[in-house]
Amino acid sequence: MKIIEKISEMKNLIRSWKEKKLRIALVPTMGYLHEGHLSLVRKAKALGDKTVVSIFVNPLQFGPKEDFREYPRDLERDKALLEKEGVDTVFVPLAEEMYPSNFQTYVEVTQLTQGLCGAFRPGHFKGVTTVVLKLFNIIEPDWAIFGEKDYQQLKVIQQMVKDLNLEVKIIGCPTVREKDGLAMSSRNTYLSSEERISALSLYKALNLAEELIKRGEKESKEIKKKLKELISSFPYTQVQYIELVDPETLEPVEKVEKPILCALAVWVGKTRLIDNKIISP
Ligand code: AMP
Repeated sequence: MKIIEKISEMKNLIRSWKEKKLRIALVPTMGYLHEGHLSLVRKAKALGDKTVVSIFVNPLQFGPKEDFREYPRDLERDKALLEKEGVDTVFVPLAEEMYPSNFQTYVEVTQLTQGLCGAFRPGHFKGVTTVVLKLFNIIEPDWAIFGEKDYQQLKVIQQMVKDLNLEVKIIGCPTVREKDGLAMSSRNTYLSSEERISALSLYKALNLAEELIKRGEKESKEIKKKLKELISSFPYTQVQYIELVDPETLEPVEKVEKPILCALAVWVGKTRLIDNKIISP
């Protein structure tokens, strides 16, 4: 397995693959890998002749008060996991090369980024789309694999690909969960053992939403109220948002009459967790 830091070296390798007509699948990550990431890697392996995993904690997508510095990193462990999966190349670009001092070009999806996480993390998705477009330009993948765990991110990237006529096919993969239902996340390592118990409130709330909807509840307001009550009954929790939205437009839905996305962001202690589920009435 090759580890590449330099953009020029990555581009040379890609050129040699393209000459041989090899097809490339890319999995962009911020590292500190878990089974969720590895499920994307397995999908990539099944699709492409060559698999590239990028590991880059992208400073551009963190707000000034967010956890860029604390974000967990363990490159040696990540490499060992990826080697075992049979990944061809790990691209670990240097921040100085990705964003030299005179960097001044950004790409922004304007509407899908307004609600949900976008409303609370100004500039976040602009950072995501900018880095992902750079990775697409460097690696020229035939496929790029993303998790539904970050549902809004997946939609925003699909929109960018469509709007900018990119050739890459975007593949979404289901959320991988711990045995008890907690969505896997690199940020789960921040949780104390007591907070870990409260973190399960997100999954429980999504299940409650499903139960209410299946029982015939249509009023988003009622559903959101009940979910908030449930989450707030767990210590250390602070709800940032609970939304029921159209799964395509991400616009809020008042009455549940077709499949909706229930999306949550909750602070558990100092850790911000997100989760979501598509629910059909
Ligand atoms: P991150 O390293 O958190 O930026 O995530 C890299 C990719 O892994 C993104 O496409 C995420 O949506 C995806 N991902 C993160 N957690 C999970 C999970 N629990 N299940 C499936 N995919 C995930």
